[in-house]
Amino acid sequence: MLGFAVGVLKTRAGGNLQTGRRRGVVNMKSRLPSNSAGDLYVDSSCIDCDVCRWMVPDVFDRAQGQSAVLHQPVGDDMMRKALQAAVACPVGSIRTETPNPLAKAARDDFPIPVHETLVDIYYNGFNSEKSFSANSYLVVDEELGGVLIDSPRYNSALAKSIEKKCGDLGVKYMVLTHSDDVADHARWAERFGLTRIMHKNQIRSFNGTNDVEMVLEGEGPWEISKNLNILFVPGHSSGCIALHDIKNKTLLSGDFYAFSARKGTISGFPDYNHFSWQTQVENMTKVTRMDLNFVLPGHGRRIHFETPEMKEAMFKEFLDTEAKVGR
Ligand code: SF4
Ligand SMILES: [Zn+2]
Repeated sequence: MLGFAVGVLKTRAGGNLQTGRRRGVVNMKSRLPSNSAGDLYVDSSCIDCDVCRWMVPDVFDRAQGQSAVLHQPVGDDMMRKALQAAVACPVGSIRTETPNPLAKAARDDFPIPVHETLVDIYYNGFNSEKSFSANSYLVVDEELGGVLIDSPRYNSALAKSIEKKCGDLGVKYMVLTHSDDVADHARWAERFGLTRIMHKNQIRSFNGTNDVEMVLEGEGPWEISKNLNILFVPGHSSGCIALHDIKNKTLLSGDFYAFSARKGTISGFPDYNHFSWQTQVENMTKVTRMDLNFVLPGHGRRIHFETPEMKEAMFKEFLDTEAKVGR
């Protein structure tokens, strides 16, 4: 539930105790002065991850290096979307001055369909600080059942909602795109009895991925159903993988391909490249040649290529910018 008074032990939106670096610490957070007057606000713990801004740009915007409520929600629909952002916020920074009756419904809305033209692809919300706030998705495949792409923050209500979406087939796989975005992978694996899939080059003992059930080697691609292929797309890391949903013409890209709101172009976030920028651009070029309508990234903004021409033009702009920078 939202609406926590300043100065008490804080809980997350959705009623769970805060986890992570602030666990057990008396709340010293305060309403940021950049918020507009009204019930909804962002507090000083915001880590500027961008999630609320891409989710509800009519309400949230960037101000002085953090997010703020620049426009108070008008009507229940917009308030519910803003409260969904509060659920997704990895550090529980979005609050209301008074408890809001829509808070539970907003939590139970997850997983949320990504787009009206996409069949059975959902955004899980519950972003985790352990995954540097990365987005996680659910694809419900008619052959396999549920396939999670990267890991949301563990939440039992979300687990029930995911189960409901997947029906009798249950939740089969969790595709871990690379070691940055694994969050609570082990808890989800235990909860669903699912098989975690990761590339050998990204297995790490410090985050427990040395326990994953299926380790990919080589360069793939790996077909996990008639509709779903895992692609090997190193560059951002040495072992990045991505999920290609053929029917939906959608790439669930992890961190190697996204749209940058700040640059206003396609980006692979070279400042965060951990392996080889040149290899990453080669793989970005390869996947751009595929028949794609959507890219759903871990970090950065989603991309909707409304036409092949739009895709070509956007990618050309990215390559032209790269050529000018000359990395
Ligand atoms: S989702 Fe939370 S942490 Fe991220 S920018 Fe918004 S308020 Fe800040
Ligand atoms: Zn990453």
